[in-house]
Amino acid sequence: MSSDKSPEVRTKRTSGRNTSGRRAGGRSGSKKNTGREDLFSAYLKTAIVVVAVVAVIAVIWLIVKPFRMRAEKARLESAVSESDALEITVDPEAEDGSGQAGRARIPDGMSVRYDTPGWQHDDKGWWYASDEKTFYVNGWFTLDQQEYHFDSTGYMDTGWTPIGGKGCYFDEHGVYDSAADNSRMIALTFDDGPGEYTNELLDLLEENDAKATFFMLGECVEQYGSETIPRMVKLGCQLGNHSYDHSDMTTLSTGAALQQFQSTDELIAKYSGGVPASLIRFPYGSYNDELESRIDKPSMYWNFDTQDWTKPDAYEMAQKVINNVEGGDIVLMHDIHANTISSLKTMIPGLREAGFQMVTLTELAAARGFELEAGVTYFGFSDTDIAHGSVSDQKDGTAASDDAAAAAGTDSSYGEPVGGQQTDGETTEGAAETTDSYEESGSDDSSGGYDYSEESDGSYDESDDGSYDESGEASTESESGDTSSVYNDSAVADY
Ligand code: ZN
Repeated sequence: MSSDKSPEVRTKRTSGRNTSGRRAGGRSGSKKNTGREDLFSAYLKTAIVVVAVVAVIAVIWLIVKPFRMRAEKARLESAVSESDALEITVDPEAEDGSGQAGRARIPDGMSVRYDTPGWQHDDKGWWYASDEKTFYVNGWFTLDQQEYHFDSTGYMDTGWTPIGGKGCYFDEHGVYDSAADNSRMIALTFDDGPGEYTNELLDLLEENDAKATFFMLGECVEQYGSETIPRMVKLGCQLGNHSYDHSDMTTLSTGAALQQFQSTDELIAKYSGGVPASLIRFPYGSYNDELESRIDKPSMYWNFDTQDWTKPDAYEMAQKVINNVEGGDIVLMHDIHANTISSLKTMIPGLREAGFQMVTLTELAAARGFELEAGVTYFGFSDTDIAHGSVSDQKDGTAASDDAAAAAGTDSSYGEPVGGQQTDGETTEGAAETTDSYEESGSDDSSGGYDYSEESDGSYDESDDGSYDESGEASTESESGDTSSVYNDSAVADY
């Protein structure tokens, strides 16, 4: 023990508590005071070292924590996917489920309760045990001359189901109905609400056996959510998220933009029985690759713009939709305008009379053979969209969304291929009107990009296809000349 520390120690001792006793007792021998002081000094040193070590460990733990959490998350995820992975005993005929069903060993989570071979049922649905140990998965299965289909987890499909790029309909008993018609199904979508007129719209939907998809603003959910969202859910409508306050998301930081959708989801869940929105739509249709990929939900554009916010004549607007809409279309409207609601009083019964079935977006997509995926933006599911490859920004329906994002460029000018439907069936005169209405509404940020006149002559610009091709970088760029300004200009249009 160096004696130069003694004064310090002594000082401390005199002012401090004599806590060194329990240690000093054993160690202090020949020297009395100095010995005790040395021992106390040793105790202090030890204490300092212990504190330092603890501090270092704490710091290291804090630094390592995120990594550990990530590793733990990955471990859990892989455990989940491992438990999900079925032990296939007979391969399905086709990986995408379009062939005959395969067979897999019945996992621990599923138990055979009824005779085998035979139907089994649990809280997830119906499945079919081929024997005590195996069941049918991922494909078609014929029984008593009826055709059924099992998904990749072995559960029986019902309703519209996309199988191998085709929409197939199964009734509530899972029986395939080859005659089911998806040619006149459309999706009505309503943005910027809910609002004071939303309940009137819900009345109309209910009376006409129709469904719609609502892209709601968080700030409106706060005001009108409690009186509208539970009813939307009850009527089988689909809930969408349109941000909290309708800012142009590309002008915000990604974090702030994601927060807008997050907070809106939480508000929606308050009134929907805990279920957040299943889809999103960016305000003004304005987005970029990063937002699209990080939002973690399918992003829905539209291919039939009613421009209802320009307050056209209610009857004319209704007729325009009824006469020009085609199966697979996504119709854009806003349930916050009284004029729109009056128009819908003609439009919804009119569409029904014309044989159109108004369904949710997910149902429309499934009926037309598409399964909606997160990180992809969808424009429409009409025959024209399908023929022109303009259903989504996902190339050929199989590319990873990363590739789609890569092909997309950063200007997000996806609008171009979309507008075609509206004027497809219109006369040149009608198209001219459409163009006019855009030009007149000069503040509209989309006036530049929605070049309806170009598309209305019936020539669905071939370069549109290219924009989603790998080689489409150039054409995307050339297109963005037309459209990028649309989504990046100061946003005033009422989308
Ligand atoms: Zn909007």
